[in-house]
Amino acid sequence: LEVIASVEPRIAEATRQELADQRGSLKLIASENYASPAVLMTMGTWFSDKYAEGTVGHRFYAGCQNVDTVESLAAEHARELFGAPYAYVQPHSGIDANLVAFWSILANRVESPYLEKLQAKNVNELTEADWESLRHELGNQRLLGMSLDAGGHLTHGFRPNISGKMFHQQQYGTDPETGLLDYDAVAAKAREFKPLVLVAGYSAYPRRVNFAKMREIADEVGAVLMVDMAHFAGLVAGKVFTGEEDPVPFAHLTTTTTHKSLRGPRGGMVLAQEEFAADVDRGCPMVLGGPLSHVMAAKAVAFAEARTTEFQDYAQRIADNAKSLAEGFLSRGANLVTGGTDNHLVLLDVSSFGLTGRQAESALLDAGVVTNRNSVPADPNGAWYTSGIRLGTPALTTRGFGHDEFDTVADLIVDVLSNTEAGTTKAGGPSKASYVVADGVAERVTARSAEM
Ligand code: PLP
Repeated sequence: LEVIASVEPRIAEATRQELADQRGSLKLIASENYASPAVLMTMGTWFSDKYAEGTVGHRFYAGCQNVDTVESLAAEHARELFGAPYAYVQPHSGIDANLVAFWSILANRVESPYLEKLQAKNVNELTEADWESLRHELGNQRLLGMSLDAGGHLTHGFRPNISGKMFHQQQYGTDPETGLLDYDAVAAKAREFKPLVLVAGYSAYPRRVNFAKMREIADEVGAVLMVDMAHFAGLVAGKVFTGEEDPVPFAHLTTTTTHKSLRGPRGGMVLAQEEFAADVDRGCPMVLGGPLSHVMAAKAVAFAEARTTEFQDYAQRIADNAKSLAEGFLSRGANLVTGGTDNHLVLLDVSSFGLTGRQAESALLDAGVVTNRNSVPADPNGAWYTSGIRLGTPALTTRGFGHDEFDTVADLIVDVLSNTEAGTTKAGGPSKASYVVADGVAERVTARSAEM
């Protein structure tokens, strides 16, 4: 930090403060974690300076021999860790990984003279008719994914996202009674809509998915099954999700981030069956620019960590702790979407406290509990205010929290929410944003969490 401070002291100070904040609060954001010192240090090296567009052994730049070592190792570790025939470790983030997967599916499955010429590297021969074919064929494909309010991600066909614009899209939700995925309803929708791409995976669904069933649905309608395991990759790597709950053997393509439950550097990755490998390999330059070599190196380090028995134990504790957190809420009378959890996250419906998700998120933050507001299925408050709070256990499990600590976390959260009231607007009506926490509650909760 001293080196940074000698150039831009405010950045050094913000960095110091970030460490203090992350240590001094309860980090319950389901997509966050604490990467190991080895992972963090690997990101701060000279690989950051190196350009390496292309693939291993086929770069558009000279002098990439060490990047080749790094990328090969990261891919090899990923293949072994997840039992995947092919791994592409270049995506800079989860969204990039999904874009690479979408384009490789289009390139692999859509018949168009443009794509044939592109594949044959005859881009210069493209005629106006080829471009017309491209616009028509690529712009006419269908994608079916899980809706945002049921727990899907923006990139699974949400209209405002590019995935909802580059594809004709439809969304599947969850059963309105149970909040659970209804495979028969997904199958019925797939039969009717006949998508090219069926996307499974989620950001805020607190249950496990049967990927064998999702593959059956995809096969029945001739779709490609793409699973986005960004949230639960750590549980797959740690062998908590096995058999039909492990997406890798069932999906044609599995995408992920590397920084959530997997506890690596910020980044993305695509795992693929052989038939898609060559198309995914063209992620750069089709979708991506130069890979972040320092981050690929850190991915290799994180995958090496994730293949240990210590990591398997960690992954099991993530799931056990989520159950403890859920039980802590239920025993204190709170409502959970689907009535519980069997993965790494809990979705708390805060409407019974008379609050919106936004009010709950802010009140909790005042007490040092860092969460994010999240829609619940058919949310009456929409995606901005929401009615839920999403809570994940990966980060605090890294800090060593177990059953008792997570029971206390549930107690602290219920303490804050039951002592918070919705505020009023300037016109005197009920506000969805402002809130009032009773005196002394934030201090009490902060003091209790400091002891943990
Ligand atoms: N896919 C899922 C399921 C996610 O939850 C997220 C991020 O929250 C992403 C993709 C996007 O990841 P990134 O923020 O690295 O682009």
